[in-house]
Amino acid sequence: MTPELDPSTIVVHAGRPERVPNAPVGESPVFSSTYVAGGDRGYGRFGNDAWVALEETLGQLEGGRGLTFASGMAAVAAIVDLVPVGGRVVAPQHAYSGVLALLDQQTATGRLEVVKVDIADTDAVSAAIQGGDMLWIESPTNPAMEVADLPAISAAGRAAGATVAVDNTFATPLLQQPLRLGADIVMHSATKFIAGHSDVVLGAVVTADDELWSAVELRRRSLGAVPGPMEAWLALRGLRTLALRLERAQSNAAFLADRLLEHPRVSRVRYPGLPTDPGHARAVAQMSGFGAILSFELGGDAEGAQRVCESTALWVHATSLGGVESMLERRRRWAAEVPTIPADLIRLAVGIEHPDDLWADLEQAFKTAGL
Ligand SMILES: *Cc1c(COP(=O)(O)O)cnc(C)c1O
Repeated sequence: MTPELDPSTIVVHAGRPERVPNAPVGESPVFSSTYVAGGDRGYGRFGNDAWVALEETLGQLEGGRGLTFASGMAAVAAIVDLVPVGGRVVAPQHAYSGVLALLDQQTATGRLEVVKVDIADTDAVSAAIQGGDMLWIESPTNPAMEVADLPAISAAGRAAGATVAVDNTFATPLLQQPLRLGADIVMHSATKFIAGHSDVVLGAVVTADDELWSAVELRRRSLGAVPGPMEAWLALRGLRTLALRLERAQSNAAFLADRLLEHPRVSRVRYPGLPTDPGHARAVAQMSGFGAILSFELGGDAEGAQRVCESTALWVHATSLGGVESMLERRRRWAAEVPTIPADLIRLAVGIEHPDDLWADLEQAFKTAGL
């Protein structure tokens, strides 16, 4: 497989069995907890054919070597475990709430010192990372949709001697490749766009640094957060259609962002694809598309926002994102969401339905909610 292939071709063809007569066209999950002695695999916690196929595909997309995990959080935990006891992590003030909760727990137990910054503020990030051990980046951020200057802050992090890690879940490996922008390690919640059908919980890591790869692999086998073969295979099967799913979901998101901007009750739309968005220029520079997630606010009306979420017929009122079915939620319904996320902010995780049906259902939900 040559690296010049377009990512939309790589998602289809990477990680397939060798083409010899009678070989299957695609990889299959192997349901075995152990392997006959004499080979290098040894035991089910050390490897599985379905993991390898998924890792090979993600590795080619991101430009490194992959590792799959039982969940996105298992992948995060393995990366954060690389920081020495007492080490300093610089992280976004707005990011996936589970990541912030993990960092808070490690602060509470005295294992880490965590400094939270506005990840879109390059000067603040560069100052905070001096003397730090790890720079944790999420871009675009969940659910504030801020865009970090990945090349600039990755360079600042590496110059400071820190490991630069990027949660690339929102962008997917098709729209943004952080290793090529200067990061050391990339993490995905493959639960989301990669698997793509709201039927799998899975995580992944990719790095081009062999030492880092080995350190994370060691943690996977010792912490034991390994994916099931079926989950890895489902994620690989989902990944085969990522390019097509994303194309449709992303164009739906752009359409909805424009419609929402025109709605009299909507006070703000956060989507890097909008030319007026503060992250637009950076997104144009470092991403090949703006993705399928957007957030909007209703002028401070948190109760109205909650009623909108409870009034849709087509949109699923649920957390999570990246599935073929569109989902929405008011993020602050979760106690764990940070208080600087507006209480009236609704996050849309746009799926692949017809855009007119999605907009009609949102308009209907606004009306039903009395807005
Ligand atoms: C969902 C998510 C995670 C956590 O992944 P799980 O697969 O749920 O463990 C991490 N980061 C982001 C941005 C996410 O959306």
